[in-house]
Amino acid sequence: QIRTRFAPSPTGFIHLGNLRSALYPWAFARHNQGDFILRIEDTDVERSTQESVDVILEGMAWLGLDVDEGPIYQMQRIDRYQELIKQMLDSGLAYPCYMSEDELNRLRDQQMANKEKPRYNGLWRPEPGKSLPAIPPGVSPVIRFKNPIGGSVIWDDAVKGRIEISNDELDDLVIARSDGTPTYNFCVVVDDLDMKITHVIRGDDHVNNTPRQINILKALGSAPPIYAHLPTVLNDQGEKMSKRNGAMSVRDYQKEGYLPEAILNYLARLGWSHGDAEVFTREQFVAWFDLDNLGRSPAQHNPEKLLWLNHHYIQEADPEKLAESVRPFADERGIDVNQGPSFVQVVALLKDRANTLIEIAEGAKLFYSPPPEFSKEQIAQNIPEAIKPVIRDLIEAITKADTTKEGYSAAFKEVLAKHQLKMPALAMPVRYALFATTQTPAIDSVLVVLGKQESINRLAKVVQ
Ligand code: GLU
Repeated sequence: QIRTRFAPSPTGFIHLGNLRSALYPWAFARHNQGDFILRIEDTDVERSTQESVDVILEGMAWLGLDVDEGPIYQMQRIDRYQELIKQMLDSGLAYPCYMSEDELNRLRDQQMANKEKPRYNGLWRPEPGKSLPAIPPGVSPVIRFKNPIGGSVIWDDAVKGRIEISNDELDDLVIARSDGTPTYNFCVVVDDLDMKITHVIRGDDHVNNTPRQINILKALGSAPPIYAHLPTVLNDQGEKMSKRNGAMSVRDYQKEGYLPEAILNYLARLGWSHGDAEVFTREQFVAWFDLDNLGRSPAQHNPEKLLWLNHHYIQEADPEKLAESVRPFADERGIDVNQGPSFVQVVALLKDRANTLIEIAEGAKLFYSPPPEFSKEQIAQNIPEAIKPVIRDLIEAITKADTTKEGYSAAFKEVLAKHQLKMPALAMPVRYALFATTQTPAIDSVLVVLGKQESINRLAKVVQ
């Protein structure tokens, strides 16, 4: 049974790159009918916030990344980590180290001065026949893992290929601090073990932790999982994504009117590909997802592409469903969509030109504002005298027309032919008469949505 996990640290800002780290293990689990586990790595109590947890949970729910187990909070598993630390001490896999902070710093300075890589020197590591220093009074020790000496750690990373790290590069990792709290790398290992994770799919900022984690897993008698370390997501400037350089939070995308389908499709392609497919459904993505097609180089965030995908999914959306999604944006803007034309019709009319739900809501304002009131000067400026008889004929033609796009289009054609005019000469004043602006969607469709009588009333006002 394949089991994957998303293990975010809820320490602040959650951007799109973070959600990608949820999407891939989710897709891999779903593709293989496996289990997807959500684990909240909240042991950094100072920096972890409920707000971040909420953003993660909301973001995942928004994209439809359902979990089979979790959220499991590491802070609720402290007893388990401590139990295992005790077992490792008892079985000699770990040992107490009494080296003080000062001594460690001195050691490091010395090593740096000698141009050596700073590392713990194993002073307190018990070995057969070795005598340890006398335990200093009043010092609580840290607990260190007895890393193997000699040999190397090798794993076949599903993204990066074969990686080999000499054990000489790794010193004895602290697994518990002097106050007894377990350290980050240790908790990850215990959880991956207890949760029977088969595939660890995570950001490659953790690749340096992997050999240490593998050594501990092996010491605990477990076979390591398969690792897939995903290249970072860079922002559109080619820098690491972060709040500081303007990355948007997952919540911002929701607020700016992106559809989850677009975000999912977009994130899927941010480091994974299937031939040259750019637009695909969630089902296709799950069916196609495989670790073999993960990219090896950093993916770059491309806001225009995301906007383009959003436009695509808005265009494709079922108007009723889309209207539901736009409604909160309309409410936010104080647009009362219960008065006036059918909101579904308005949304259907606006969706083809919109990139975001906000744009649809903004466009909808037109149809829910009271009819414009014009001064004499405004009419004189925007409705040429010569056009007034044409508008009068148009009113008549509209009165008789079918209440369809085709019907109104025919009405326009008939009047234009009679007066030997081109469309813009009439459409512009008509738009102005209806809405006090010349920026509107196609005029025949607008008449359908606004309604025959309302349109006639508004036109009549400018030709009185
Ligand atoms: N908590 C880590 C992070 O948010 C991920 C650890 C892991 O996936 O092993 O970066």
